[in-house]
Amino acid sequence: MSVAKNLAAGRILEDQLFPYPLMREKDREVLGAMVDAIDQFLSPKHQDFKQWDRDAAQPAEFIQGLRDLGLFGLIIPEEHGGLGLSNAGYARVLAQSSSHDSSVSLTIGAHSSIGMKGILLFGTPEQKSRYLPKLASGEMIAAFCLTESGAGSDAASIRTQAVQNTDGSWTLNGEKIWITNGGIADLYTVFARTGSASGKITAFIVEAKWPGVSHGHHEDKMGIRASSTTTVNFADVRIPAENVLDAEGKGFKVAMAILNNGRTGLGGGAVGGMKVLLAMSAAQAQQRKQFNTPIAQFGLIREKISQMTVDCFAAESVVWMVAHYIDSGVEDYSLEAAISKVFASEALQRSAYEALQIAAGSGFMRDFPYEQITRDCRILSIFEGTNEVLRLYIALSALKDLGKSYGELKAAVDDIFNHPIKGFGVMTDYAERRLTQATGVGRDKLSTALPAALREAAVVYERYTVELSKACDFLLRKYGKSIADRQHALKRVADIAIDLFVGLCVLSRAASLAKTPGVESDQASVIAKTFAQQAKRRMANNIRRIERNEDEEMDGLARFIMDKGSYPWDVI
Ligand SMILES: Cc1cc2nc3c(=O)[nH]c(=O)nc-3n(C[C@H](O)[C@H](O)[C@H](O)COP(=O)(O)OP(=O)(O)OC[C@H]3O[C@@H](n4cnc5c(N)ncnc54)[C@H](O)[C@@H]3O)c2cc1C
Repeated sequence: MSVAKNLAAGRILEDQLFPYPLMREKDREVLGAMVDAIDQFLSPKHQDFKQWDRDAAQPAEFIQGLRDLGLFGLIIPEEHGGLGLSNAGYARVLAQSSSHDSSVSLTIGAHSSIGMKGILLFGTPEQKSRYLPKLASGEMIAAFCLTESGAGSDAASIRTQAVQNTDGSWTLNGEKIWITNGGIADLYTVFARTGSASGKITAFIVEAKWPGVSHGHHEDKMGIRASSTTTVNFADVRIPAENVLDAEGKGFKVAMAILNNGRTGLGGGAVGGMKVLLAMSAAQAQQRKQFNTPIAQFGLIREKISQMTVDCFAAESVVWMVAHYIDSGVEDYSLEAAISKVFASEALQRSAYEALQIAAGSGFMRDFPYEQITRDCRILSIFEGTNEVLRLYIALSALKDLGKSYGELKAAVDDIFNHPIKGFGVMTDYAERRLTQATGVGRDKLSTALPAALREAAVVYERYTVELSKACDFLLRKYGKSIADRQHALKRVADIAIDLFVGLCVLSRAASLAKTPGVESDQASVIAKTFAQQAKRRMANNIRRIERNEDEEMDGLARFIMDKGSYPWDVI
């Protein structure tokens, strides 16, 4: 039962949101020691990170240090030599490493979140025992090879091809681009077409040392410059039959499952970045004086720091809620994972912008860390699914189940005389939803169960869950299947779903903190109330603009500029 999909149907699945989940005891023990060890190892290297950013390189001795700390075995089960952390524990480690340097997190994250995740999720016992111990120790570093020059967001259009030989082995040919850890990896999870050039996609485990495997030069990037990004080439590479991951033809499913499962690592890293920006901004605002006054006393500076705090708390709340869903075996969490990635990446980018603005001229200077963080975090809305594509995914997945009920509704009307009970059931479901939308009867009453300070916030989510379901019904009735081409409308649906799901995670966390003494719970309630009010304004605007907007005009304007090829006006 996906919480976010249910929001689109007008339902808040309280049981899956409250109480806010706790970190496993076993993870807490490992994390205590791990977080200290990371700080001890990375703190003295801040000058090095700056240099490595300029040099665009991470020295081999440093990567050895990451191995020695056990950072390549974080999520690998103990029986295979890893630390066996949950997703929640893993995301917390990446938050810690990101508070020092994003490239470090990327080296560790690309290995665990996507590089070898396929073996964890889909590997046979033999594949696991062959590779996981080496991946856990870092003797093998992993990378994930999906993107090609012609296949970015449209990952299903890859052209790398594997042809099966008579002995069952495969011969792989193609080139992948922008592969994180491409230049340092010993093992690649590679996606290729099999059968024919237009055949289905299959996932393979490929070792870097095999004949025909090579990689290009280290890409000269805007940010995360020290992290290795290269092309990876496969020229007549022979892959043994036993290195197919999952089954032949199931590669697209494997790729999507890996990306969905890996999103909390990225989210955890984003939260770590936001925490360090907040600490820097708080110090800077108090130290810097202008007009004989610490700038911390100016409302416009305090507004930035408080907004960064709200964003950080919200991102943390949603990332660890999703990590908990994954850890507790929820099967359908892809929509919530996409929401957490979109929200956390954009929250960090907003925070980086504002932190640099607080530091102003100093923020612009390379002596200070703001500019590097601003460059480093820009990638987060681009890779592991661009935020545009993920917004479309969020909206379309939410609408899909409702659309099905429309399909069923039509069939039910046709069917009602043949199968009255079945038909009646479907009609009842639909009628109930409409009744709730119109009158509030049967609407979930989340607000009554919460501490008084949070009830007003809960009412916002109760109301806008119904508004979202009305908007979805309206769009489906108006556009039917062609809703898939209405991207402006889909973005609004996604943004409402993001505000609702993130807001409910914030509410849940604030409610749990309210019951725990000594955790600044009053301030957490202030954050929950503030987020709800801000979300309400955004959601109201999005709802209004579903029917009244200038989408046609904006589309026309974009077409006009593209036809012209440039901006046609001047003041001369
Ligand atoms: C530093 C870095 C590291 C990377 N690491 C890896 C890695 O380890 N492994 C790997 O496989 N890949 C990796 N990638 C690739 C990354 O996942 C892709 O860049 C990403 O999927 C987007 O593809 P693209 O850049 O080709 O953009 P495109 O797909 O060409 O998109 C261009 C623009 O169009 C938008 N767009 C695309 N389709 C639609 C649509 N249907 N509707 C509306 N808008 C749309 C996009 O959001 C974007 O704004 C990495 C990329 C970078 C830059």
